[in-house]
Parts: sequence; C-alpha cells; structure tokens
Amino acid sequence: MVRHSSRIELSQSALKTNFGFIRKKIGPEPVISSVVKANAFGHGIYPFVPMAEDCGIHHFAVASSYEAYEVLEARTNPESRVMIMGILYESDLAWVVEHEVEFFVYDFRRLEQARSAAEKAGKKAVIHLEVETGGNRTGLSEKELMSALRFLKKHEDTIQFEGFCTHFAGIESLANQFRVQRQLTRFNELYNKVKKFGYLPKLRHTACSAAALAFPETVFDMVRVGTAQFGLWPSPDIYNMHLMEAGKSKDSPLKRILTWKTDIMHIKDIKKDEFVGYGTSFQAPRDMRIAVIPIGYSNGYPRTLSNRGEVIIRGKKAPVVGLINMNVFMVDVSHLPDVELDDDVILIGRNGRHSISIRSFSEFTNAINNELVSRLPYAIPRKRVR
Ligand SMILES: *Cc1c(COP(=O)(O)O)cnc(C)c1O
Repeated sequence: MVRHSSRIELSQSALKTNFGFIRKKIGPEPVISSVVKANAFGHGIYPFVPMAEDCGIHHFAVASSYEAYEVLEARTNPESRVMIMGILYESDLAWVVEHEVEFFVYDFRRLEQARSAAEKAGKKAVIHLEVETGGNRTGLSEKELMSALRFLKKHEDTIQFEGFCTHFAGIESLANQFRVQRQLTRFNELYNKVKKFGYLPKLRHTACSAAALAFPETVFDMVRVGTAQFGLWPSPDIYNMHLMEAGKSKDSPLKRILTWKTDIMHIKDIKKDEFVGYGTSFQAPRDMRIAVIPIGYSNGYPRTLSNRGEVIIRGKKAPVVGLINMNVFMVDVSHLPDVELDDDVILIGRNGRHSISIRSFSEFTNAINNELVSRLPYAIPRKRVR
C-alpha cells in the first residue's frame, strides 16, 4: 500500500473519559447527540462514529444530508440515529425519510414537503422544530411555529414531532451572556406555547458543548455535543468556569483524542549565515542541523506557523525554521544529534513531558480550535488506538 505523508490517531480511552465527564455534568437522563459535522471536526467520521458507539452513544448530528449518509455508512449499530441540523435539499427528502434520518425544520414549507415524502415512502418523517430565539440564523418565528403545530397535529400519521430546539449564538463566551440568556427565556416562552397547544415533542434541546458543561439551565432532554467530546474546551471562559467550580486540580478532565504524526524526510547540516527554504525569513545564526518534514499548508499545517511552530522529535521540541511551504517545512534539530530518517514527528500530540496542543496553534494563527481541526484534509488516514 502506498503511504500518505502523515497519519492521525484517535484515542478510545480519551474519548471514554470525555463522554464520562460530559455525562457527569449533564446527569444520567439527557440523550447525548454526538455532533460529527465537518468530518467529525476533522477527526474522521468513519473511525469516530464506531468509537462513539462503543462509548454508548447512539445519536449523531450533522450539517447536511451527505454527512448523514456518511454516518449511516460508518455506524456499526443499526439502531444509531442521525439528525440533520443544516442543509437538506428537497431532492434528498425521499432518501432521508426512507432511511429514518431525523431533520430540523426551520421553514414552514418544509412540513408539506415532508408529509408528501413520508406518504410516498410509507414511513413517518421524523422532525425537530427549530425556533427563532434571537440567534437570527435559522428558526421558525412564533407565528410560523403556531402554524407548524396545527399542521403537525393534523398529520400525526405521517410526521413524528420528535424534537423542539434552538441554538445559542455564542454561549461559549461570557461576553455574550446577556444575549444567550434572552434566547433561553424566549425558548422557554415558546415551549410554554407548545404546552398550551397540547402537542408535545419527545425531546427538548438547546445545549451545545459550552452550554452542556457550564449552564445546567440549558440542559433538557438532549444535548448536542461537538467540541467537548474531542477533548477540546469550547473557550477559555468555559474552562475557567470549570476550574472555579472544581477547585484547582491542574489536570483537564477533557483529554484531546487526536494525535497527528508524520516522519522526517531529509536531514542536512548547514553553515552559519545560510538561509533556509524560500526567501530570507530564516538565516542560520550558527552552524545547524535541519530536518525536512513532508507536511505543509496544503496538508492543514497553518502557514502562519512559519518560524513559530514546534514539533516533537525523540521526546524533545524542535522549532520550525523558515516558511511553511505547500508540502514541506523545516525544523531545527541541532540539539538532537541522534535524529534519523523516519523518526516519528509529532505535529499535534504528546510524548513524555512535551505536548503540542491544538490551542497552541490558535495562539499564532487567530484560528479557533475547531477551525484548525475541521480543516485537516479528508485524505489523511485516521485510525483508532487504545
Ligand atoms: C455545531 C453545532 C453544535 C455543536 O456545537 P459545539 O459547541 O461544538 O458543541 C450544536 N448545535 C448546532 C445547531 C450546531 O450547529
């Protein structure tokens, strides 16, 4: 088999720890919907879905019908459910109903389309009404909600009213609290209208990772958890809130599940005053030994880490020297006289005392954690490890 220039490992034990921590925060009752949009935030939907299933997860959420298709391909338990929160083309509705995929409804016209698809398939369409609470992304207005309820009550035989939900506009940041608390109040008002109407959904849900970890009043029958399951804190604010509650135990209860590794492709000795790589951004201050790494910005390694990033080789950090190119970059290994071709190079991960976090990338790149991981190329092979 020909090899790709890097590989990703996903830790099953870290994942188990993360779901354990999330479960402790939300209590035993709520369903955890594992959000696996964007190729499971770049971790790889195919290895990740069975790993989550092995942790007892049987509900998944995605952003498109294509991703729903991938979850159905990846799942090992035929009982595992999948829910589309984002784009669903009308032409995909027949497939979605046929495969019992759940979906958000944020447009009243979708209900008639769903009813018609369900009638043709001879199966119920399973829907979640998403309501507008102030995020101003997708969601039904109050007027549309009331029309939707009347429609649903009339068509109970073809449409199953599974969920009632909204999404917060930035609950991970304390600066947005005035806004998201208004959203929660609005959501509760709208839910009371549904109650008065007398036709209740099975699941009420609003919480993403940050909400589930830090705001218990947002946790109802289900939580939709993306970021936290991968062992990433949604924001420094949420991490601080955890620390204040938990006291000063230094160890994060969330464990990064992803390790990204590559190899050394070439080693060379250079003389003081030589330049390294393209341009003149790095000039050797002394005689040096340089290792060439077969990864560049096309592989998802940010170009902004030029002259700033670090990798781990033989348990020691080695700094990036020069620019990150499309497919290679160079690191200084002058302090590692024993380096050899094919030595493992850790781009993200831990070896002994040293660790390179995804957040450390963000400090230089302005990219948030999720942006960085979700862009890791689809082609990189991913595998489960213990
Ligand atoms: C992405 C997303 C989530 C998960 O958000 P995290 O903060 O990563 O947990 C939940 N709900 C909706 C509607 C989303 O789009």
